[in-house]
Amino acid sequence: MPTESTFLLAGLFLLLAAAGWAMGRFGERDEEEPPPPLNIDYLKGLNFLLNEQTDQALEHFLKMVRVDDKTIETHFALGSLFRRRGEVDRAIRVHQNIIARPDLAAEQRDQALFSLAKDYLKAGLLDRAEKLFVRLSQGSRYQVDALDSLMRIYEQEKDWQRAVDAAQELEVMGGKSLALQIAHYYCELAEAAAGREDYAAARQYVKNAQTGRPRTLRGALVRAHIAQATNDNKTALKLYHRIIDEHTYLIAEALPEIVAIYTRENQLADLDKALQGMLDKNPEMSALLAYTAIVNDIGGIPVIDQCVEHYLLNEPTLAEFIDMQSVAEGEEAALARTRKAMSRLAASTPRYQCQECGFSSQRLLWLCPSCRSWETQRPASRVQFDTVLQHSIT
Ligand SMILES: [Zn+2]
Repeated sequence: MPTESTFLLAGLFLLLAAAGWAMGRFGERDEEEPPPPLNIDYLKGLNFLLNEQTDQALEHFLKMVRVDDKTIETHFALGSLFRRRGEVDRAIRVHQNIIARPDLAAEQRDQALFSLAKDYLKAGLLDRAEKLFVRLSQGSRYQVDALDSLMRIYEQEKDWQRAVDAAQELEVMGGKSLALQIAHYYCELAEAAAGREDYAAARQYVKNAQTGRPRTLRGALVRAHIAQATNDNKTALKLYHRIIDEHTYLIAEALPEIVAIYTRENQLADLDKALQGMLDKNPEMSALLAYTAIVNDIGGIPVIDQCVEHYLLNEPTLAEFIDMQSVAEGEEAALARTRKAMSRLAASTPRYQCQECGFSSQRLLWLCPSCRSWETQRPASRVQFDTVLQHSIT
């Protein structure tokens, strides 16, 4: 079966013939070297194509049509067509061929280097792409695009300090705010520092994260974790409560930590009071509180248990099931059994979903691995009840 590339190259050979280049020469040749007649070159190329030797046909084309001012745009078009169709090796070959021309103008060299860097990126050869983008980011007309690509490469490589540097330079050159990305890069650095118990460095990174606008509450979460790790429970609690006040969805992250602190301090009655106060202010948080408690298997705190019961009985399918089971084992036992089943199920189903692209995961990911957006994941507030019922009945 002839591939699309076969047709593409066949088209190019035909175009060349039709353009009347048959009468002249293809590109620059040495004076001593007589131009071979077109029909031989042309037939050789077509012969490769008929035998489905696409790479040989491409090599033949590159040899036959030297890069010069008249043909360079054809070469660029060919390279980018190959890349767009995922034939990256061929795109690389075409762009390297352009760069090999000794008397290439500076602007065309930059264009070829930029195209080659994009080929490398598409091929997953990040280190090679990085080298070229670094070169182009230092004063070429591709400076802004190169910095943007560098920022994304450093993100993928989790090289957060370099990502900060590229983003800050890009803010100056490109004139748009990257405060959210930069805040997350600093949070990544802060979490890494906290992970190696370098809390002074971690605090400094959080400070850097919190200078830009818009701010991310992730900085407050990291600060709360640092406070917890250094036994400053008062600060940790203050921060967790503030986080929930500002972004209710983060209760999914904060509640297990809050419960752990109150349990350690033996002050569960105070927690009950604090959560009741929160619900009085925001009654609509009841469902998310209940779901978070179910997912993390948190119980034994009156206000949480009430929310969970209310949650289970307000889901029509579940309520019907609990009703049915209540006849046999009493409502309390039926509720407890359903809650346990949901807890088990939640442990094996995705708990967070990206609002941009729908990518879901078990734990909160600040950077969506699918669409590369920051802070677009939100916790689920429902379990798949059909599966729960199957688990419960069998
Ligand atoms: Zn996404």
